[in-house]
Formats: sequence, C-alpha cells, structure tokens
Amino acid sequence: MPRRCKMCRAKVGNGAIISNLVALCSWDCFKKYQKSHYAKQVHDKVMRKDRADRKERLKTYNDYVKEAQKEFNHYIRVRDKNKPCISCGTEQMSAKRGGAFDAGHYRSRGSSPAHRFHLFNCVGQCKKCNRWLSGAVADMRIGLIKRFGIERIEALENDNKVRKFTGTELQRIKKIFSKKRRLYEKKFR
Ligand SMILES: [Zn+2]
Ligand SMILES: [Zn+2]
Repeated sequence: MPRRCKMCRAKVGNGAIISNLVALCSWDCFKKYQKSHYAKQVHDKVMRKDRADRKERLKTYNDYVKEAQKEFNHYIRVRDKNKPCISCGTEQMSAKRGGAFDAGHYRSRGSSPAHRFHLFNCVGQCKKCNRWLSGAVADMRIGLIKRFGIERIEALENDNKVRKFTGTELQRIKKIFSKKRRLYEKKFR
C-alpha cells in the first residue's frame, strides 16, 4: 500500500522523506511538518519510549522479581476480595494496595521462592495475621485446607522442586497476572 504524505495526503514516491514514523512528500511538506503539533507529539513519544527503554535496560533481576510479585499479589487480593482472612476469618473490605488485607504466603517467599507465584500458596489475609502474627501459619493451614482441599495443600507442602525463574519468565508472569487481574475486576465489579 502506498504511504501518504502526513501533511498533504499525496501519495509519496521517490524522493520522499520517509522514516518509520512519518512520510512526507516534499521539502515543503517537511518544513510544514516540522512546525506542526504532530511533530511535537511524535518527538515526545520517541523521547518517552527512549526513557522507558533506558529504564528497562537498567533493571536488575531483583527488579523483575519485585515487579512480578507485585502484580501477582495484587491479583490475589482482587481474587480474594470477598473472602475473609484465611487465618482469623475477618471480613475483607477492599482489595486496594495498602488496604486492610495483604496477599499472604503460606510457604514463605524467603524459604520457598519456587512457590512465590503459586495460586494455592498465596491468599487474602488481614494485615494483623500477616505482619504481626508471623502469618498465623497454623490457622492459615486450616483455612487453606477448607478453601482448596487437603490434597492440594499437601501437594504444595510436599513439593520441594527447586525452581529459579528467568528474567523473561518473570516479565511474562507480571504480564499474565496483570491481565488476569484486570479481567477479574471487569467480571466481578
Ligand atoms: Zn505533502
Ligand atoms: Zn486475620
């Protein structure tokens, strides 16, 4: 398909000024383009992308872990937003970050990093249980068995495979759970 000049809509052929962002049929149109609002928009967009790329390149492995965990935990809080605290039964009121509930891990992320994104290993839990009662693990186990069934929880407890996520996997996990969370929010508003 022939491209058209951004300024005058003429088809652009030989001698045109073409970049991957814009096509211009002539020097005159190029000059008009340079003064246009559109040129500024393109420039700003390029600069923004450039900054984002640079930021992305500076990310460390731990940044990827953190970002993926943040999305995963957010998904869990939204998934469990109408469920009570897994340990003490307190009703949850909001899935917002910094709300009353955390996404609490049963097998901790520190001692069991392979399960940091495991769907039965992470559940909505009140801040009191999660932060001040060290996860209230014994009650959490009872709650988990009630919610997911003993087979799943025992399988989780007995799973000692070592798993190290690659940077690419972490980026994918981040994307997947961000998408899942948005779908969930739409469906259960
Ligand atoms: Zn033109
Ligand atoms: Zn609680």
